[in-house]
Order: sequence, then structure tokens, then C-alpha cells
Amino acid sequence: RAKIEGRNRLCFFDPDIQAKQEERAKLEAALHSALVRNQFRIVFQPQIGTDDRVTGAEVLLRWEHPELGMVSPLEFIALAEETGLIIPIGLWVLKSACHQLRRWNNLSGWESFTLSVNISSRQLHQEDFIANVSEIILETGVSAKNLTLELTESAILKNVEDSIEKMNVLKARGLSFSMDDFGTGYSSLSYLKRLPVNELKIDQSFVRDLGIDLGDEVIVRTIIAMGQSLGLSVIAEGVETAFQHELVRGYGCHHFQGYLFGRPQDAKEFESNHFDQSSSLLFPNK
Ligand code: C2E
Ligand code: MG
Ligand code: MG
Ligand code: MG
Repeated sequence: RAKIEGRNRLCFFDPDIQAKQEERAKLEAALHSALVRNQFRIVFQPQIGTDDRVTGAEVLLRWEHPELGMVSPLEFIALAEETGLIIPIGLWVLKSACHQLRRWNNLSGWESFTLSVNISSRQLHQEDFIANVSEIILETGVSAKNLTLELTESAILKNVEDSIEKMNVLKARGLSFSMDDFGTGYSSLSYLKRLPVNELKIDQSFVRDLGIDLGDEVIVRTIIAMGQSLGLSVIAEGVETAFQHELVRGYGCHHFQGYLFGRPQDAKEFESNHFDQSSSLLFPNK
């Protein structure tokens, strides 16, 4: 009896935990080979201005696994961070994004089109970060002013001094920074003033219940007011309905992103959905 209890207390014999550990180990092994096996894709989600035109896109990573199917970044980015695999994966994303950006900026009417690339905490605080970003910009021939890096508050807070220093160097080279998932962290106005960000990206959790949850309305209006008083651009993510769009636009938000304007799409789809060949103008897919 004592033996059974003792055994039950050992987590190694808990079939649930064991199954989870096996699954994680499998995912990690698969993630290790995903780059060389060419299983990653990038997709693009349009970003819209107040005149309803597409101004740019966010680059989002997709993993197409032969057996697991499409694996969501929500399932593997954290693992990639923990294992350090996010470094080579992140470089691949940035390089692929810049190659696409170069092609699009070369088209007439697309010269000021921007791409926003998500950068993880581990990437930002890596020693070679500035050198790697600079090299990719040089090698792909993009204009740095068309490239925005999205950082979360928590990534910045992991080492504020290192973040500020690196952001300043890259900003001097023409890059822009957007603070992703804004409002979910602890930013205060005084701390935000020190950060060389160009844009605040309102987290979609606050946009979702606009018109239903009064608290969210207060948060969204406050973020927009903060952005305006600091001279920063503000973009709302997760805009799914015309009603949400009307509200955030009414509060003074500058840019919008969400399923209302387009899902994340591959480069070909993005071109056919958002590039009007007759007028060489960009337009949202509404
Ligand atoms: P994020 O950067 O906040 O990206 C926004 C997420 O919201 C994306 O999910 C996007 O597909 C989704 N989304 C966009 N519009 C709507 C909408 O109207 N409604 C709803 N419900 N969702 C919407 P996705 O692509 O699954 O990415 C999830 C997260 O994974 C991203 O959140 C980002 O943190 C991370 N991620 C994605 N790609 C990369 C990458 O290349 N590098 C790094 N480090 N992280 C990435
Ligand atoms: Mg993002
Ligand atoms: Mg976001
Ligand atoms: Mg988010």
C-alpha cells in the first residue's frame, strides 16, 4: 500500500504529465528540424489608415507540419523562446519579410508600404541583434523606414536599459518600433516617455468588447490619449466588426488591423486582395 502511494507521488508515473512531456519533447524535436525542412511560412495581415487604404501589413509566422498540420505560433513561439530556437527562426522571419518588402516597395504605388515584424524578448536581448538586423537590411536592400519592429512591454522590461540602447541605435538607422499588446503590461506615461517607440498597438482584448464593456472603452480612449500626447501613432488590433472600427476611429485612432479588413494571407493572396492593378493604389478588402 505504502509502495503504491509512494509511487503515485512520483510525477514520472503520472500518465497525464508523462503524456504532456512526451508531446512537448516531440514538438521540440520537430521544431528543431522545421527550418531545414522548410516548414515555416510567413503570412501578411493588412493595416489600414483612416482613409481606409492599406498602409502596411503585420508579418505573422506559420508552421506547416506534415503530420501536425498548421501549428499556431501560440503553441510554438514560447517553446522556441525557451529552447533558443527563436534566434534562427526569428532571423529567417526577418529575412523573408525584408525580401518581400523589397519586392513590394519596388512596385509603383507601394513605395511607402510598411511591414511590421514581431521580435521576441530573446532576440532583442541577444548580443548580435543590432548587427543581424542591420545586415539583413543591407543584404535585402530594403529602406529601413519601411520596416517596423513589434516589441511587447514584457520583452522591453526584461532589460530596459538594453532595450532603450538598442532601440535608439536602430531608430537612428531609420527603423520604427511598435509596442505590441499595449495595455496588458504596466506602462505608465512617465516610463513610456523614455522609450523610443513610434507606435502603440492596442491589444485586441480591449477592442473585442468595445460597446459592451465600459472599462475597455475607458482603457482604449486612455491609450489613444496617451499616444496623442506623446506624439505616437496608435493602431488597434483585432478589429472584427464595423461597429468596433467606428468606435476606435471615433476615439481618434490612426491605424486599424483585424479580420474586418483581412485575415493573415500569403504574399500572392495579399497582392490580389489589396493591390488594384488599374490604379496602382492600395485598397482594403472590405
Ligand atoms: P500578435 O503579434 O499580437 O499578433 C496578432 C494575432 O492576432 C495574430 O495571431 C493574428 O492572426 C490575430 N488576429 C489578427 N486580427 C484578428 C482579429 O480580428 N480577431 C482575432 N481574434 N485575432 C486576430 P497569430 O498569427 O496566431 O499570432 C499569435 C502571436 O504569436 C502573435 O501575437 C505574436 O505574439 C506571436 N508571433 C507570430 N508570429 C511571430 C514571429 O514571427 N515572431 C515572434 N517572435 N512572434 C510571433
Ligand atoms: Mg504583433
Ligand atoms: Mg499584438
Ligand atoms: Mg496580441
